[in-house]
Amino acid sequence: MTGQKIIEKARKENRTLLSEIEAKQLLKEAGIKVVETKLATSKEEAIAISKELGFPVVLKIASVDVVHKSDAGGVKLGLKTTAQVGKAYDEIMKSIKKAFPHAKIEGVSVQTMAKQGVEVIIGMSKDAQFGPVLMFGLGGVLVEILKDVSFRIAPLQPRDAGEMIRDIKGFPLLQGYRGSDPIDIANLEKMLLKVSAFVENTPAVKELDLNPIFAYQDGAIAVDARVILEKVA
Ligand code: ADP
Ligand code: MG
Repeated sequence: MTGQKIIEKARKENRTLLSEIEAKQLLKEAGIKVVETKLATSKEEAIAISKELGFPVVLKIASVDVVHKSDAGGVKLGLKTTAQVGKAYDEIMKSIKKAFPHAKIEGVSVQTMAKQGVEVIIGMSKDAQFGPVLMFGLGGVLVEILKDVSFRIAPLQPRDAGEMIRDIKGFPLLQGYRGSDPIDIANLEKMLLKVSAFVENTPAVKELDLNPIFAYQDGAIAVDARVILEKVA
């Protein structure tokens, strides 16, 4: 499905929250690297997709009623065999039915397990005065506890992207701290510019979160994505 179709479908269903799969599809179309992610509506299908993608895989709850998937026991990482996938499927369904008895469950998403990188985030929200504002920061607990993030008004110029990354206090971590490998900062700059272009070209998007992105010595990839659409009058 194309990006425009995805937005139209959500609108028809009176939803402003896109599913993780829909959000990743939109971003992929905009040239932003995301992990391969497919919907399975049964355990058998989850196993078949895992084989097709190749192990290890990740299973996540697919439900627009579950926003924080791991908090509710809805994420299982590093599954290496069909047996592990089957077990993870049952465990996810059990946890979610307990935590959200009324959630509408579409199934599970089956994803390639990305190799661990430095976790960073890119976000966008709309300010009443300035319009779309982009955010960059270190991911995981660092963003939650330290709020080590930087902001720039969209659209970004190439030098804004470079400055945003260098502005955060944790920047030395990206440069290779105490012998760890430096990550590909030029690639992160390009990713920020692509997100900025996507936001400019897609005014229906109200809010966006790529959290986390795994950044590597060579390249980077988003493993989770959330998109919220503007309400239509
Ligand atoms: P939540 O809805 O809780 O934010 P996420 O999709 O972000 O769920 O998954 C939780 C964590 O699991 C991520 O922060 C990341 O560390 C890890 N993770 C998620 N998807 C993948 C993946 N495809 N490959 C590797 N690690 C992943
Ligand atoms: Mg996440």
